[in-house]
Amino acid sequence: MAEFTMELNDEQKEVRDWLHGFAADVIRPAAAEWDEREETPWPVIQEAAKVGIYSLDFYAQQYFDPTGLGIPMAMEELFWGDAGIALSIVGTGLAAVGVLANGTEEQIGTWIPQMYGDANDVKVAAFCSSEPDAGSDVASMRTRAVYDEAKDEWVINGTKTWATNGGIANVHVVVAVVDPELGSKGHASFIVPPGTPGLSQGQKFKKHGIRASHTAEVVLDNVRVPGSCLLGGKQKLDERLARARERAKAGGVGVPPAEGWGRVKNAAMATFEASRPAVGAMAVGTARAAYEVALDYAMTREQFGRPIIDNQGVAFQLADMRTAIDAARLLVWRASWMAVNGKPFNAAEGSMSKLFASETAKKVTAQAIQILGGNGYTREYPVERMHRDAAIYTIFEGTSEIQRLVIARTLSGMPIR
Ligand SMILES: Cc1cc2nc3c(=O)[nH]c(=O)nc-3n(C[C@H](O)[C@H](O)[C@H](O)COP(=O)(O)OP(=O)(O)OC[C@H]3O[C@@H](n4cnc5c(N)ncnc54)[C@H](O)[C@@H]3O)c2cc1C
Repeated sequence: MAEFTMELNDEQKEVRDWLHGFAADVIRPAAAEWDEREETPWPVIQEAAKVGIYSLDFYAQQYFDPTGLGIPMAMEELFWGDAGIALSIVGTGLAAVGVLANGTEEQIGTWIPQMYGDANDVKVAAFCSSEPDAGSDVASMRTRAVYDEAKDEWVINGTKTWATNGGIANVHVVVAVVDPELGSKGHASFIVPPGTPGLSQGQKFKKHGIRASHTAEVVLDNVRVPGSCLLGGKQKLDERLARARERAKAGGVGVPPAEGWGRVKNAAMATFEASRPAVGAMAVGTARAAYEVALDYAMTREQFGRPIIDNQGVAFQLADMRTAIDAARLLVWRASWMAVNGKPFNAAEGSMSKLFASETAKKVTAQAIQILGGNGYTREYPVERMHRDAAIYTIFEGTSEIQRLVIARTLSGMPIR
């Protein structure tokens, strides 16, 4: 187990500086253009692939860094560059993690390389869980996967929404209901390989922020995938469903299992707790970017014959902004370290980090606009884009309200509705 540290080691500093250089030289200059175009910035993703930032190797290296600081450090730097473009670069990682977490060795080896493609022919992947009637309430998912035993194929029908890279992905990871009686215990994840008939893109959303990241509905109309596309395999699924049915037979899905709720909840929760700090780190990157612009502006803009930072009203705002950003980063780093080192999230520390960092990003980017005055409100300066971008952090990967619900439930042990 690695000790918790607040300092990056030499190797991490080197990676951070390299990422910062890419964010400053390649991502940031392209940010305004792709925000206006509202399109996936393929040339930037390709550049990232050429230098090795857009690759499974790079992602895995950071993911398995025992200090836990690899992913948050990488996210912060890339999102400091620009949130929309950075999400286009790291969005594939969401689908890749779905396969890494649930797939067999063979599935990992087969599908993850196809998610990324290569530097000459970059591809992206999508993770499709949310549905029009199943956002925060994942258990009300309707997309159905039915097993056709004669052909050893799964037939998937339904409509997914809000999928990052949905419809333009080479590989889609789709979560579907395999046993409607079991609620969220009856869900399974499937790979939908490139070019599978029946999968199509529905509406592409025109968004408030992160506009360089493609977000769309994904329609699944009698999509047939081979049995080998069920993540984890049929035997594992059958065993898991059998356990859930046993529990249901013993008195309903709500009856505590022999081992108690604690263990069951912890298994599912640990996955979310481990992924949420990464979103927190994205928020820290956006907040830091806006703070830096505001600090620089406050020191150079003069009114009443002196730089505006000479006014406590402005200086104190900057002090609060920086304090909140540093506090957010510490929460994120702590949760990331806990995740990598298998620490129990007894106070939902992963959710805490995402909640605080995302709310901080929203607040800090709004303060930055205020400090830049009229200029802050225009597209001549980047803080209005950063503020639009920051709004996503309190929504995706669980809204702020859901984070609070999870934290409160974890602290009290009570089901809070
Ligand atoms: C740009 C973008 C990209 C996304 N990318 C993906 C992706 O790649 N894959 C994917 O599967 N999904 C993705 N999502 C979906 C995202 O995770 C959901 O939008 C999010 O979970 C919220 O669901 P919802 O939009 O249906 O809101 P709802 O669940 O309808 O919530 C609406 C409001 O009600 C509140 N609320 C709901 N329940 C409670 C409660 N019990 N207590 C208190 N308040 C509550 C919420 O906090 C929110 O404020 C993305 C969304 C966006 C906007």
